[in-house]
Amino acid sequence: METSPNITEQIFSKAQDLGFLRIAITAAQDLPEGDDALQNWIQSGYHGDMDFMAKHGRRDDPQKVLSGAKSLLVVALPYAGGQDLVNLTPSRPQGFIARYARGRDYHEVMREKLMALGEACSEIIGRPVVSRPCIDTAPLLERGYASQAGLGFVAKNTMLLIPGFGTYFLLGELLLDVELPPTEPIKPKCGSCRSCLDACPTGAFVSERVLDARKCVSYFTIEYSGAIPQEYRRPIGNMVFGCDICQEVCPYNLSKKIKPVAPEFIARDELQNPDLIDLLEITSSGHRRFVKGTALRRAPRHQLMRNAAIALGNSGRAEAIEPLAQALTGNRYPIVRGHVAWALGELGTEVSLNHLQSALVNEDDDSVCDEIRSAIANIESVNDAD
Ligand code: SF4
Ligand code: SF4
Repeated sequence: METSPNITEQIFSKAQDLGFLRIAITAAQDLPEGDDALQNWIQSGYHGDMDFMAKHGRRDDPQKVLSGAKSLLVVALPYAGGQDLVNLTPSRPQGFIARYARGRDYHEVMREKLMALGEACSEIIGRPVVSRPCIDTAPLLERGYASQAGLGFVAKNTMLLIPGFGTYFLLGELLLDVELPPTEPIKPKCGSCRSCLDACPTGAFVSERVLDARKCVSYFTIEYSGAIPQEYRRPIGNMVFGCDICQEVCPYNLSKKIKPVAPEFIARDELQNPDLIDLLEITSSGHRRFVKGTALRRAPRHQLMRNAAIALGNSGRAEAIEPLAQALTGNRYPIVRGHVAWALGELGTEVSLNHLQSALVNEDDDSVCDEIRSAIANIESVNDAD
């Protein structure tokens, strides 16, 4: 070994000063079990349209990311979990944004902190250290390495879980050309619990630790830009960007203990309970302001509008009908108009029906016409049953 335990302690202490919740170390080598599970997952098509998952090939060789790397530091940066403060009688319908996305974009925050940690390593070790920060975009099997290093264990909901803390944190890695003593892995501690698997609103878990992303609300609302299959729209509820349900029910996250949060991830007010009608009607400049500096940049404007339309359809709120009716004829995106039609069908009033019937006369996009006809049939079937 090139380093003493004292050096590791100093690196860990610096990581703590930078706001990391926890840090662990593993060798920058092939994972013994490889990334066969990931490759099989991709072969099964569970990644859906996320072609970037398949693009980089195998993810179990850190030398592909930093040639000459000897160690891999894995870090956890905590964001605000816990129960949301929910207004039970909001004047307008509100949406839900996944907790990790309500503050600054974690890619930027994590990169800044990892670079600072790399610089600190040079000072601590007494020579210029070659390092490379990695966030989820690097071709590295993050959870596999984090689990091997003992940062936490891969839980049944597929997330890394830190006993005594839970899952509300983001993962990052720092490759170093320095040999450091590895930390010990820990055993999975889900036991017989299966709360996350049972709570998933869309049945997206194929089995423990295997997720079919094509059924996951996070995938639909963030990664997928097409028409969301109708059978998944009701389970989406009011979620407009991501889903935290399989974390919310986890007993490790339900603990009443006060937990640390990186200040950069403290929620912006407008992302806490976003106004769904505002989101449906958001302008280009409003969208730029809304997503600026946050992970929401991943979802283009028409996608957030589409998600807002679904959430409004699930809201049961009469005040959603007029804004939806205006979007049905005035929104320039067929994908939005189609989901708006569905939403009006779900709200199911005579007024909705009238708006749908008159919009059908002038609509020239076939896919939107199909959605309108389906929404009309939905309302008429409910009326017939009454
Ligand atoms: Fe299911 Fe939501 Fe978890 Fe996706 S994020 S697996 S939809 S509970
Ligand atoms: Fe594991 Fe239960 Fe948490 Fe799921 S809910 S991750 S099974 S402890």
